[in-house]
Amino acid sequence: MASAAAAIFSRVSCDFLVDIRTLYYYSYRTVYETSVLIVGAGPTGLALAIDLARRRISFRLIEAADKPFEGSRGKGIQPRTLEIFEDLGIIDPILAAGGLYPRLRTHLGPFSLRLGSLGSAHEPSENVPYPNLWMVPQSRTEAILRKRLRALGGEVEFGTALAKFEQDGAGVYATVSGGETLRAAYLVGCDGGHSTVRKALGLKLEGEAIDEKPALVADVEIDGLDRRDWHLWPFAKGGAIGVCPLPHTSLFQLIAKAEAIGGSLEDAIHRVTGYRMGRIAWESIYQPSVRMVGRYRVGRVFLAGDAAHVHPPTGGQGLNTGVQDAYNLGWKLAHVVHGGPDSLLDTYESERLPIAAAVLGLSKRLLQTRSIKRGDATNQLALHYRTSSLSSGDPLGSLHPGDRMPDLRLAEGRLFELMRGTRATELLTAEGPRILIRPDGYIAHIGPKHFSEYVGEPTRQLQGTVSKLNRR
Ligand SMILES: Cc1cc2nc3c(=O)[nH]c(=O)nc-3n(C[C@H](O)[C@H](O)[C@H](O)COP(=O)(O)OP(=O)(O)OC[C@H]3O[C@@H](n4cnc5c(N)ncnc54)[C@H](O)[C@@H]3O)c2cc1C
Repeated sequence: MASAAAAIFSRVSCDFLVDIRTLYYYSYRTVYETSVLIVGAGPTGLALAIDLARRRISFRLIEAADKPFEGSRGKGIQPRTLEIFEDLGIIDPILAAGGLYPRLRTHLGPFSLRLGSLGSAHEPSENVPYPNLWMVPQSRTEAILRKRLRALGGEVEFGTALAKFEQDGAGVYATVSGGETLRAAYLVGCDGGHSTVRKALGLKLEGEAIDEKPALVADVEIDGLDRRDWHLWPFAKGGAIGVCPLPHTSLFQLIAKAEAIGGSLEDAIHRVTGYRMGRIAWESIYQPSVRMVGRYRVGRVFLAGDAAHVHPPTGGQGLNTGVQDAYNLGWKLAHVVHGGPDSLLDTYESERLPIAAAVLGLSKRLLQTRSIKRGDATNQLALHYRTSSLSSGDPLGSLHPGDRMPDLRLAEGRLFELMRGTRATELLTAEGPRILIRPDGYIAHIGPKHFSEYVGEPTRQLQGTVSKLNRR
């Protein structure tokens, strides 16, 4: 009896001690437990946060800047990203905020010549609902992503920079500005080209500067300049100057070699275009580079977007590749947080790293050849994971395991509408085989096998015919 009482007492006192220690700890430091710490609230971090929020995975999204980004920088949204934006629930505001790319107009002294456009103006088809490059200033895209995140209950923590972190087998301890320490199961560095996360991991951005001379990008008003065209002055003193009208604004995005501008932007614009400049809404200097890391994952820490690969503006690939990194990683993180095998997270690097390498090669070729031909090469619809360990089965017509699943009209409605949300889909085809479509819209398997569930969630069952499929 005495020993039982002693045992109870020692348990009570032990629990009491633990409580005292916890109270002490919490009173001096704020410790948050969260599944995923996302560092950086650019397009990549925001897309990842939305995907995790709709999967009910806890996260914190910290952003070093005190306020939202205000520039037009990554203005070209590719058809594949538009499909992802449909799934994430923001396609309507993105379409409303943007427009097709205007034609290029080259100015040579007193003459001007209209060339083609960097974009296309195709009609949507059954398989490709968004066939054209869509221009939306990056700050608008980010604002739309933030609004969607808020609707899902998430928030960006502005003015909160990651200072340092350490990881062990169970998680990551991160210290943010202000000294707060955070404990997270995983950390994703979406913190851009100068990534703190990448540097802390000791990973290098390997590659080259395409041009040693810095370039200027600025959002400016130019009084009286025709807003129907993207104007180019290829032989301006010091280097070419281009000004592109930004949809639903009074602004043009100006891109020029910094030395072509010289002292005052206002004087340079007047000298080259003959028009007077109004307001400068935003400006920034950048170095056109082609660089990427050799690893996307180190233990519990991942890199995504510009933190992992830096693109020149040609071809409009950087923002798009970052959003698609996030879309590839979100469902995998969610499954592993829910107890799925950690090896699933290795497929993030094995699937996305070769894509970044291919896309960077393309951007570099486009810059060096000065080609204005775009379309299938840049629209990111043909990017695939055919060699991934997650792709299996046999081709069916033009479809291969690992390909992006095209949209289809089914008896119940549009496939992309029916696929919206977090689950995988199994399409039972009139031709016989079943097509298992991953949560991110890529084909996991083609064959007779039935999948009632995929990554821990029941699959959505649909029926349809794929014989007249045209992948692009
Ligand atoms: C002139 C120009 C034109 C371009 N045009 C296109 C285009 O048409 N299409 C396209 O796809 N791409 C384009 N891009 C590229 C595109 O802008 C980038 O690829 C895109 O911004 C990358 O998004 P991100 O979220 O990965 O990184 P970022 O947008 O750089 O966001 C990173 C965020 O992390 C934050 N951060 C940094 N350090 C920390 C820290 N320690 N703690 C917390 N937060 C931190 C930063 O403040 C920032 O908000 C263009 C780029 C340039 C320069």
